[in-house]
Amino acid sequence: MSDHDHDHNPDVLWTALTVAGLAVALVDRFGVALPQGVVWGGLGLAYLAGGVPAGWVAVKELFGRGRLDIDLLMVIAAGAAASVGAALEGAVLLALFSISGTLEHRAMGRARRAVEALMALRPDTALRVGPGGIEEVAVGAVVVGDRLVLRPGARVPVDGRLVEGLGEVDESTITGEAEPVKKGPGDLVHEATVNLNGVLTMEVVRALADSTVARMIRLVTEAQGMKAPSERFSEWFGARYTVLVLVGSVAVFLVLLGLGWTLQAALYRAATVLVAASPCAVVISVPAAILSALSSAARGGVLFKGGAALEMLAEVRAFAFDKTGTLTTGQAEVTGLKALDGATEDEVLALLAGIEAQSEHHIAGAVLRHAVARGVAPVVVGEVQAWPSEGISGVDAVGPVWAGNARMVARMSADGAHHGLAGLRGGTQTVVHLGRGTRLMGAVTVADAPRASAARGIAALRAAGVEEIVMMTGDRREVALRIGGALGFKTAEVFAGLLPADKVQLVDDLAAKGRVAFVGDGVNDAAALARADVGIAMGAAGSEVALQAAEVALLSEDMGRLALAHRLARRTARIIKQNLFFAIGAMVVLVIGGLFFELPLPLAVIGHEGGTLLVVLNGLRLLRDPIRVI
Ligand code: ADP
Ligand code: MG
Repeated sequence: MSDHDHDHNPDVLWTALTVAGLAVALVDRFGVALPQGVVWGGLGLAYLAGGVPAGWVAVKELFGRGRLDIDLLMVIAAGAAASVGAALEGAVLLALFSISGTLEHRAMGRARRAVEALMALRPDTALRVGPGGIEEVAVGAVVVGDRLVLRPGARVPVDGRLVEGLGEVDESTITGEAEPVKKGPGDLVHEATVNLNGVLTMEVVRALADSTVARMIRLVTEAQGMKAPSERFSEWFGARYTVLVLVGSVAVFLVLLGLGWTLQAALYRAATVLVAASPCAVVISVPAAILSALSSAARGGVLFKGGAALEMLAEVRAFAFDKTGTLTTGQAEVTGLKALDGATEDEVLALLAGIEAQSEHHIAGAVLRHAVARGVAPVVVGEVQAWPSEGISGVDAVGPVWAGNARMVARMSADGAHHGLAGLRGGTQTVVHLGRGTRLMGAVTVADAPRASAARGIAALRAAGVEEIVMMTGDRREVALRIGGALGFKTAEVFAGLLPADKVQLVDDLAAKGRVAFVGDGVNDAAALARADVGIAMGAAGSEVALQAAEVALLSEDMGRLALAHRLARRTARIIKQNLFFAIGAMVVLVIGGLFFELPLPLAVIGHEGGTLLVVLNGLRLLRDPIRVI
């Protein structure tokens, strides 16, 4: 079987013709005797439809890339069978060969189609709010910062943030989640999702080329470059071993002739060995399993950048989770507001909203929603710079301003011990300080809540035997312990107050004991995602850098699906082992039979192709293991 990164599998039509031709010959052999002409016609059809496309591919492969393809072995074996009077066996060989090829082809097509279907969902035009009113423009012409109007029932043309209106959005195209999601000002809306009922105004945050769908397509195409070790093994094996089989069969033929066998008998034996030894099953078993698994994961909203990540996930012994935005919802809320030393609460909120308007952090969404709710307009702030795990800084009309946690306060040499904040600091919520230069102007508290699915997902991972599960966050210890407690983490499993480099260090510590997966969403998680054996990023809701660094994207925010993806990865690894074991075992038995026990050619054909079909079907079982909510 040829590898799957280029399209040369016989298509369904060729396969159907081959099978039809074979059927005629089989009816004659085992049922009603047909006129000789009809039988030969059927066999001829099977050879042409089954052999010519495969032979053509093999020849292209041989002269184009200098590689001996297994297709060539099959065509030669079928020809050899025909020349020693076993035309029917040759036809069976070709028919089964093209059936397994078609099955393999379909499995790989599915994952790609799942994503391509999304492209079709993207509307071509958008309603832009212009100086002269609302105008309809091509989506490609929309730029970041444009305001678009979304009518009820319309699909969202590009990624954006709502500025006006309340409504429900159906995000099933992106996340696989059937339940509509309530959205209001400050919330992100994603390309290709459907606005169900509100009249919404959104501001474009990503142009077409960087939007969600474009990102997903890039993920899936990148994936093809990242092959699993077992995939590489089976390809390598296929390429080397094919030459060996061809040379070996010729040697058998020559030796038998030398021993005084008739030409006919020697050719028959050599053809039997050729069929018996062909590594079709070994070569196809791995991609059949991996592609099926990748496709069923993609349908459940879990995108793997290739088989390597899938195989690695099966071996993971420890999971590390980021807190904010990963274990908690993106819907944080401002719960307290304090203005210090002469500033008013509205001034504090207006300035804070002005800085946060430029941030992707979940805190920013909470602050912006709060400002909208209080009717406070954000101050214009420029030169904004993010300090991962600390805060954010910028410049307004008066001068430098900043917002962030205690680290940020220290970085700006402000008075962190300000007595006015004692009330806010006592609790288990995130405190965001606002400052101008070295002066502290006020603070807000932001509360986030665990995702409903997080406890379930973590429990499922523990039940599956994952040895260590920890939380790593840049937030305060008090907040981390509150969320951790709600999710069943022990105190020793919660690491708080971390900088991005600390997360990397902790991942390294875990890696000393075995494979580590890191699950995160933020800019501050990128380094840890890249360092972990398997980086898993929150898809639609996560930051672009996190997606880049990760090998897996969770398009759905359902942590239950992470546990299912982990289970799928383990099942895939098991099926690959079964397949390789079975395929190599069957091959050894058939070769021994062909060399030393006068195995008849029909049995070699049935053993070989039957084995190939079995491993393909065993791999395709993974297609029926969809990732759903548990
Ligand atoms: P986590 O690791 O849990 O995802 P982060 O590292 O993203 O959390 O954030 C850690 C802390 O850094 C936050 O709790 C907050 O105090 C501060 N911080 C980060 N980004 C911002 C921001 N845009 N505005 C204010 N504070 C921020
Ligand atoms: Mg985070």
